[in-house]
Amino acid sequence: MFKSFLIKYGEIGIKGKNKYLFEDALVKQIKHALRKVDGEFEVSKQQGRIYVEVLSEYDYEETVDALKKVFGIVGICPVVHVEDEGFEQLAKDVVAYFKKAHPTLDQTFKVNARRARKNYPMDSMQINYSLGEKILQAFPNVKVDVHNPQVLLNVEIREKIYIYSTVIPGAGGMPVGTNGKAMLLLSGGIDSPVAGYMVARRGVKIDAVYFHAPPYTSERAKQKVVDLAKLVSVYSGPIHLHIINFTDIQLYIYEKCPHDELTIIMRRYMMRIAEHIAKETGSLGLITGESIGQVASQTMQSLAATNEVCTMPVIRPLISFDKQDIVDISLKINTYETSILPFEDCCTIFVAKHPVTKPNVNIIKRSERNLEEKIDELVETALKTEEVIICE
Ligand code: ATP
Ligand code: MG
Repeated sequence: MFKSFLIKYGEIGIKGKNKYLFEDALVKQIKHALRKVDGEFEVSKQQGRIYVEVLSEYDYEETVDALKKVFGIVGICPVVHVEDEGFEQLAKDVVAYFKKAHPTLDQTFKVNARRARKNYPMDSMQINYSLGEKILQAFPNVKVDVHNPQVLLNVEIREKIYIYSTVIPGAGGMPVGTNGKAMLLLSGGIDSPVAGYMVARRGVKIDAVYFHAPPYTSERAKQKVVDLAKLVSVYSGPIHLHIINFTDIQLYIYEKCPHDELTIIMRRYMMRIAEHIAKETGSLGLITGESIGQVASQTMQSLAATNEVCTMPVIRPLISFDKQDIVDISLKINTYETSILPFEDCCTIFVAKHPVTKPNVNIIKRSERNLEEKIDELVETALKTEEVIICE
């Protein structure tokens, strides 16, 4: 029935030059999302609107599902288009549409006509009125409500005539690519994939870094992170995942530093390395899945100690979320099932029985001095031997 989709996007704050960039990025992201859907689609900007035209057989559900994952889309309107063959024919088409799209036939409605082509022989008020009358005649249980209609029946007169009344909610946010790039510290847990999703939703392109510690962490744990990056990429677009071998650094910290400070010192090295890669690859910030108080390494004191080594903004979108709120989002974006697979994470191997919960930055810095002899070389080797996987 539907041969095209009108894409609605929020327009607040995107005027002038930004609007053009916003629309182009949105068109690009829509094309990207539809690549994996069977069927031929054409995505175009027309008179300040974005349309997806379907040029072949296609699967409606699959198409809508793909569009629902594109950030920047506020609403998806499945549209029927008909040829302009005079008003009487249009009235028949509109009645047939109403019957199919709103089969209960007991709703209130309002016709909202728009003449994008000004040579149409009736003006929009006349079209509203005359089509309204035809619908009332066809369906005795339907009523007009101009203030708060259950069905807003849009009729747009263009080269063809477009009819639509359904708005399927979109993902919201901003198109990926309109707000620079950031580096996500992606572990195999529940939180960091959600954090990446949330920042991508604001239009930020995402790269990721994962620290693994073979043989203490397995190939399967690494594969799990790759799988998570792929799941996030359904929304964010392709993710360059940098995989850093962290084993020697961890062992060296283990050898040289007090064990109750291991987690914090390790996290400081993760941030340093992530920032280094971020700078080299054009990211403007770091993203973590941290949330205040969730674990010992996320008390305010621990966050301060970790943050102290970074010069870039560290974006922590989950900072004030309860675990359940984070789980709810991970269920919604389909990362939860993968996140809870029971493969060890590099941090669980070396955790102390009683980690410091209120680290003092000066004491931590003093402990890190024990690493002076070899740490730079180890970091350099870790960077040199990184593996990059494009996840999409
Ligand atoms: P998550 O559920 O995201 O794993 P978590 O609750 O397990 O988080 P921590 O282990 O303290 O919390 O990690 C805090 C954050 O540090 C993570 O959200 C992630 O951004 C980053 N991080 C932790 N471990 C790694 C790792 N091995 N590789 C990359 N980033 C990591
Ligand atoms: Mg974790």
